Amino acid sequence: MPIGRFAPSPTGILHLGNLRTALASWLSVKARGGRWIIRMEDVDTPRCRSELGDQQLRDLASLGLESDAPILRQSDRSGAYREALRHLHELDLLYPCQCTRKDLHMLASAPHLEDGLRPYPNTCRHREWEGFEAALRLRLPKDRVVWRDELLGPQDDDPAQLTGDPLLFRRDGLFAYHLAVVVDDGFQGVDEIVRGVDLRGVTATQIRLQEALRIPRSLYAHLGLATAPDGSRLGKRAGALGLEALRQRGSSTNEILGWLAWSLGCLDQPRPCEAADLVKRFDWSRVSTQSVQVPVAWSQ
Ligand code: GLU
Repeated sequence: MPIGRFAPSPTGILHLGNLRTALASWLSVKARGGRWIIRMEDVDTPRCRSELGDQQLRDLASLGLESDAPILRQSDRSGAYREALRHLHELDLLYPCQCTRKDLHMLASAPHLEDGLRPYPNTCRHREWEGFEAALRLRLPKDRVVWRDELLGPQDDDPAQLTGDPLLFRRDGLFAYHLAVVVDDGFQGVDEIVRGVDLRGVTATQIRLQEALRIPRSLYAHLGLATAPDGSRLGKRAGALGLEALRQRGSSTNEILGWLAWSLGCLDQPRPCEAADLVKRFDWSRVSTQSVQVPVAWSQ
């Protein structure tokens, strides 16, 4: 049975862009008669707050989007990540990295390319390990990755140009995003990954990691982002509004859902609706690859 997922990090409220991704992943897998699961990506524990995760689950449920399996929390999954690292080590695919974040000008915990992730230049690949605390990276093979995006069509990427050798274990002792996401999608049997186009650039790297761990390749669809009315990126930091704030401005949940559904090509006009009524209307060929602007009335 097809399994899709939505995997928020409990570091803020879900804004319209997040909710749009959640709805698209739900509709896509439900239209194929599958199951949809929610996973809490709280692997970067210092930034995560469980009450934000609870709020996210309440917001999703109010839209009619409920997980068909118990919620998996990455903070409970250290054993599985350690086991995956052990396996990769046995295959001689890991190497220690002593670069600091400052060295790299990047945030290991922020996978989004637009947030400043630059490809790692593989500096430590051939460096002698000096024996102090180190992070671990995956040695990527040289070749390009050919894959298909349900929305964007055929893709042909060189992961070395996009991410470089990915970080799997952080020098502060936390497991890194790429490892957790790939191990968990494999463990949960996720075969369809719908997420924002800001994560398109990490897909080839994650496919390489899947291959190393012998996890079957998933289907992918990378959605255009929701932006503020001026076209600027919608984000937690930019004060994007969540469901509660939108309801306080007088919009009903079903109106908000109707706008999301319209933005995904399910309706000709935004109008109040219920999630269950949309399943038959969902079709990737009707979803635009472009970003979508949030109405002025719904922005800060
Ligand atoms: N947890 C990631 C985020 O909140 C999503 C990861 C993914 O979809 O692969 O941005």
